[in-house]
Amino acid sequence: MWRPLVFLCWPALTGLAQAADYSGPLFDAHLHYNEEAYQGPHPLDDVLARMQRNGVRAIVANSRPNDGTKTLAGAGTQTRAAGVTVVPFIRLYRNRADYDNWFRDESIYTMVQTEFARGTAAGPYRGIGEFHLYDSANANGPVAKKLMQFAAEKQLAVLAHVDDVAIDLLMAHASGVRLIWAHTGIGGAPAARVQALLDKYPRLMGELSYRPGLTCGEGSLCPEWRALLLKYPDRFMIGSDTWVNQRWMYYDELMRGYRRWLGDLPPDVARRIAWDNGANLFQLNRP
Ligand SMILES: [Zn+2]
Repeated sequence: MWRPLVFLCWPALTGLAQAADYSGPLFDAHLHYNEEAYQGPHPLDDVLARMQRNGVRAIVANSRPNDGTKTLAGAGTQTRAAGVTVVPFIRLYRNRADYDNWFRDESIYTMVQTEFARGTAAGPYRGIGEFHLYDSANANGPVAKKLMQFAAEKQLAVLAHVDDVAIDLLMAHASGVRLIWAHTGIGGAPAARVQALLDKYPRLMGELSYRPGLTCGEGSLCPEWRALLLKYPDRFMIGSDTWVNQRWMYYDELMRGYRRWLGDLPPDVARRIAWDNGANLFQLNRP
């Protein structure tokens, strides 16, 4: 008699059980090391310690200005000791004024080309960004178009903080580009729209910091997003987006939050979103 009872109770019991947090390596696909961090409370040893104690084994590094990225890329001894691989991206911003004008500023196109030619101590730059488009129409700005084509030509990834309309506009300039959609739509593009874009552009990836509607309640995945991550396990990555020092201050909590919801997924899917997708994109070795 007890067998059917056990069978009936089993789903309920597993529903109550808290899934274990993801404990494997993390690839932080959206990291800034801006001047107010490295000149202020977060020198190199501080940020590397934060990565190391959180199991972050690789980072997409970009900064305003690019000096922060160069500091990370040039610190081979320390980054190796911390077990962190640096994937350098070229930031388009020399200062805050560039946020609103980069897409039509020829001097930024020149700066990107100069930086790319120079490379970093950790090897060539692997991407461009993060850049922002607060008005998606500016995706058609002359420099935005040229940069997308430059990225395609040099096989650089592009990290773009844009809305869903701008994804279509940017992709029209250079459909072969590996576009990483920062926040996968910080304005909250519906999951169905995200899915349509992933279907339309096989080289589009989504980075998940600040993504509205991703987590529900106790920091676990909302059902709609869980379904999307399960449907596209090779298309998403996590990131810290340390755009202000406060994000560095809470770096531990941010990574703990990711580990929490990654634990809601089957282990192989969690591993892909946490590490493999970024590592495969930039040909990194398994830690
Ligand atoms: Zn950012």
